[in-house]
Amino acid sequence: MGNDALLTELREALGKDAVLTDTDVVDSYSRDMMPLAPSGRPLAVVLPSDVEGVQATVRACAEAGVPIVPRGAGSGLSGAANAIDGCVVLVMTKFDKILEVDPGNRLAVVQPGVVNLDFRNAVEKHGLFYPPDPSSYDWCTIGGNLSTNAGGLCCVKYGVTTDSVLGLEVVLADGSLLKTGRRTVKGVAGYDLTKLFIGSEGTLGVITQATVALRPLPQAPGTLVAGFDHTDKAGEAVARVVREGLVPSLMEIMDASSIKAAEHYLNTDLGAGSDCQALLLCQSDSGGEVAQRELSAIEQICNDCGATMAYATDDLAEGRMLMQARRVVLTALEEYGVWLTDDVSVPRTRIAELIQGCERISREVGLRIAVVGHAGDGNMHPTIVYAPDSEDEFARARKAFDDILEVGLSLGGTVTGEHGVGKIKREWLEREIGPVGIRVHRQIKRALDPDNLFNPGSMFSME
Ligand SMILES: Cc1cc2nc3c(=O)[nH]c(=O)nc-3n(C[C@H](O)[C@H](O)[C@H](O)COP(=O)(O)OP(=O)(O)OC[C@H]3O[C@@H](n4cnc5c(N)ncnc54)[C@H](O)[C@@H]3O)c2cc1C
Repeated sequence: MGNDALLTELREALGKDAVLTDTDVVDSYSRDMMPLAPSGRPLAVVLPSDVEGVQATVRACAEAGVPIVPRGAGSGLSGAANAIDGCVVLVMTKFDKILEVDPGNRLAVVQPGVVNLDFRNAVEKHGLFYPPDPSSYDWCTIGGNLSTNAGGLCCVKYGVTTDSVLGLEVVLADGSLLKTGRRTVKGVAGYDLTKLFIGSEGTLGVITQATVALRPLPQAPGTLVAGFDHTDKAGEAVARVVREGLVPSLMEIMDASSIKAAEHYLNTDLGAGSDCQALLLCQSDSGGEVAQRELSAIEQICNDCGATMAYATDDLAEGRMLMQARRVVLTALEEYGVWLTDDVSVPRTRIAELIQGCERISREVGLRIAVVGHAGDGNMHPTIVYAPDSEDEFARARKAFDDILEVGLSLGGTVTGEHGVGKIKREWLEREIGPVGIRVHRQIKRALDPDNLFNPGSMFSME
C-alpha cells in the first residue's frame, strides 16, 4: 500500500479530523523537549479516540510498512517521542477519560491521554493518592509516564511509576489487544508483562489503558531545609538518613549554582549563607507527631554532619515557599541562557562525588552547570546552560552532557534515572548493559514487533 492509499484508509477508519497532514501541524508534533535529539518529518499525525482506531492505524501502517511513533504530550527529555522521516505520529491525547475510581479496592482505571495532575486531582476527591509526580505533572500524560517509567519528587518513599501499576491494555504490532496484569493486590500468574511494557518508550506497543494502585491520601507535609558549606557534608547527611532507616516523603538537593540562580530569580535570600555549597530539602507526610519525630531526626543528622543552618516547619504555606526554591531552578536558569538537563542516577552514598564531578566539567567546558536532584534516590539532574545562538557553546554543552554520564557510570550509577534512553542515549545504554543485555533487548523486540513497526531506532538499534 502506498502513502496516499494509507492516508485514505486511515481517514475512512478514524474520520478525516483524526488524520492530520498539514505541514505546520505535523511539524509541531515532530519533537519533544530535548534539544540534542534528532527528529524527522512525519507523513501524518493520527489522533485516535478509541481502541478500534488504534488497532486500525496499527494494521494499516503495518501493511504499508510505515513506522509508528506513539506520543503523549511531548514533554519528554530524551527524544523518545521524536518523529522519524515518513512515520505516523500516533498521538494519544484523545484517550482522556478516567474510566473508574474504586476506593474499596484502592485502584483506578485510566486512559493514557489523561494529564498526570488531572488524574491526581480526580482521585484526591475520593481521599486517594496517585504518587508518581514528575515535575512536568501539569502537562505530561499518564501514557508518557508509563512508557518512560517516570519518577519525580516522591520516589524516595513511594517508588516510580511501575510501583503503582497493576495492569495494562496494549495494542500489539499485529493489531491484537493484549491485557496484562490484574486488579488484585497480589498475583503472580505468568511472566510480568506489565513491567515489560512500562519504560519501553513506545517500542513494543501502544498503551490504551492502565489499572493503577492508589494509596490513602497522605497528611499535609512538614518541611526541613538545611544548608552545608561543603557538598561532602550534605552527601554524608543523605547517606546517614538512609542508613538510619528514615524514609522522608521527599529529599531534594540543590548545589551552589542552583541556589544562586533560585535566590536571584526569587530575589530572596534562602538563609543558607554566602558560602553555602548545598541545600537539602526534606519533607515528611506521615502527619502529626510522627512527622515531627522524622524531621527532628533528620535535622539532628544534618547538624551532626556539620550543617551551617537547619530549619523545620509544619506550616504548609511556609513549606511551599521553601520548596519553591527547588521548583523554580529550571526557570531561574533561563535568565542565563537555554538549559540542557541531564539525568543520571548514582548510589546515594556518591551524590557529593557526582556534584563535584559536575563542578569540574563546568570549569573544563566553561559553561554554568547547576545540579538539582532527588537526593533520596540518587537521581541527579545536572543542568547545563548555554547561549542559544552559539554553535560553539552548544558543542561544549553536548560534551558536558556526555562527560556527566561518564562520571555517573564511573560512580556505579546508571545513564538515566527517569527520562529514558530515547534517541540521545542509545550508545550509552549499550555501554551500560553490555552486548548480552542489548541482544536480549533485540530478542524481546523481535518477538513482539518483528517488523520493527514501533518507534524504530529509539532506545537501541536492531543491527
Ligand atoms: C520541565 C520538565 C520537567 C520534567 N520532570 C520530570 C520528572 O521529574 N520526572 C520524570 O520522570 N520526567 C520528567 N520530565 C520528562 C517527561 O515529562 C516525562 O518523561 C513524561 O513521562 C513524558 O510524558 P509525555 O506525555 O509528555 O510523553 P511523550 O514525551 O509524548 O512520550 C514519552 C515516551 O512515551 C511514549 N508514549 C507516550 N504515550 C504512549 C502510549 N500511550 N503508548 C506507548 N507509548 C507511549 C512515546 O513514544 C515516548 O517514547 C520532565 C520534562 C520537563 C520538560
